[in-house]
Amino acid sequence: MSTELVDYDEALSRYEPVLGLEVHVELNTASKMFCGCSTEFGAEPNTQTCPVCLGLPGSLPVVNGKAVESAMRIGLALGCEIATWCRFARKNYFYPDMTKDFQTSQYDEPIAFEGSVSVEVDGVAYEIPIERAHMEEDAGKLLHVGGATGRIQGAEYSLIDYNRAGVPLIEIVTKPVLGTGAKAPEVARAYVSFLRDLLKALGVSDVRMEQGSLRCDANVSLMPKGSTVLGTRTETKNVNSLRSIEAALRYEICRQAAVLDAGGRVVQETRHWHEDGGFTSPGRSKEQAEDYRYFPEPDLVPIAPSREWVEELRGTLGELPSVRMGRLRADWGFTEREFGDIIANGALDVVEATVVAGAPPSAARKWWLTELARRANEAGVELVEVGMTPVQVAALQKLVDAGTINDKLARQVIDGVLAGEGEPDEVVRSRGLAVVSDTGALTAAVDKAIAADPDAAAKVREGKVQAAGALIGAVMKEMRGQADAAAVRALLLERLS
Ligand SMILES: [Zn+2]
Repeated sequence: MSTELVDYDEALSRYEPVLGLEVHVELNTASKMFCGCSTEFGAEPNTQTCPVCLGLPGSLPVVNGKAVESAMRIGLALGCEIATWCRFARKNYFYPDMTKDFQTSQYDEPIAFEGSVSVEVDGVAYEIPIERAHMEEDAGKLLHVGGATGRIQGAEYSLIDYNRAGVPLIEIVTKPVLGTGAKAPEVARAYVSFLRDLLKALGVSDVRMEQGSLRCDANVSLMPKGSTVLGTRTETKNVNSLRSIEAALRYEICRQAAVLDAGGRVVQETRHWHEDGGFTSPGRSKEQAEDYRYFPEPDLVPIAPSREWVEELRGTLGELPSVRMGRLRADWGFTEREFGDIIANGALDVVEATVVAGAPPSAARKWWLTELARRANEAGVELVEVGMTPVQVAALQKLVDAGTINDKLARQVIDGVLAGEGEPDEVVRSRGLAVVSDTGALTAAVDKAIAADPDAAAKVREGKVQAAGALIGAVMKEMRGQADAAAVRALLLERLS
């Protein structure tokens, strides 16, 4: 790419980034937004359609009550007000992914509005103002065949799967997010991660970014430092991983800074993120709202949720992730940084389950963030898929606490569990990993080490206890790691007293 970029830190020295995030989340209702078709992911193309979601003339939509309920629960969890009365609207456009030539959405009457959430980056809390959360339907999925990139440019032909058309969507839109400075890309990532946890806790969506059930359009503009006038923004579409959100925003900040530095103007447009090359490219020039000729949907009745219903739903929210995190951090006694590492590694659920299974929080944290995180990383899987359960990790720690194995042997036990050799205690037995508690064997190893290193032994006799380290190491080596270091040390000091 020949695009000029400004160094990130340099861009941030002259400009203040302003974020705007639009997140689309597919609800996990059994049926679509306005018809009874299944929403099951992965079915044969065009097998989950009917006259309503195909937009055939004369078909009439009916609102999915469960989807409205989910929309309200999401709104409440985002601290939004819930409309006393709202309507759907037609968003008119012509594109083959929507045969009706309009998308049934909400325009100036969203079901939820004026909320706020707080996300944390490096121990600093950032307030994300929520403008609205509105209901709409998903469009069909286009598959461009024959091109190199999978995009429409260069494709020989395109196929359309209408299974997705009509799947309930909630679009969550932030107000402009200011004051994040150089942390803007990380704040955006933390916000989407926060939403993913929140929507998962509410049980309203599968929130699988890789399957498209959570999609983020990342808007960013630059404001010269000291100015209060918002710059022109670009919208990078459908960035489908947390890492990409951060990378795409960093790229856009560097690109826009170069345009502005050269005295140019940023074009208001949608842009595509290219995961492989790590750059964005122009899409279409961004429509203004008036281009869509929104008007109220005449085929659907307005939605007027009673306040009793709203309060009833508020009671179903359960413990929200931010509250849960505060509680666990206090219960476990971790510092912000220690706890932050658990969140950043996506280890909260597994660490909690390990503690529930009986392990001390510090031990649960240690195993998941070191040995198991490394192995999950190597295998390219999430921690929950690494092949060792929280119950097994707790059982492993129990063996350490009982003195049956030490940390070093525990790593071999993990190998065994991951290799399918059974539960931790079975691996200890079958691999013969238990710490040797036979004092005869230990004493022999200690005496051998003393004889082999008389200098060190003499120093320890003179009271230089730190010289014992070399001798302990020799004993551990002799015992092939299968000794308790504390017991070796005690025995050694006893022999040299
Ligand atoms: Zn249908």
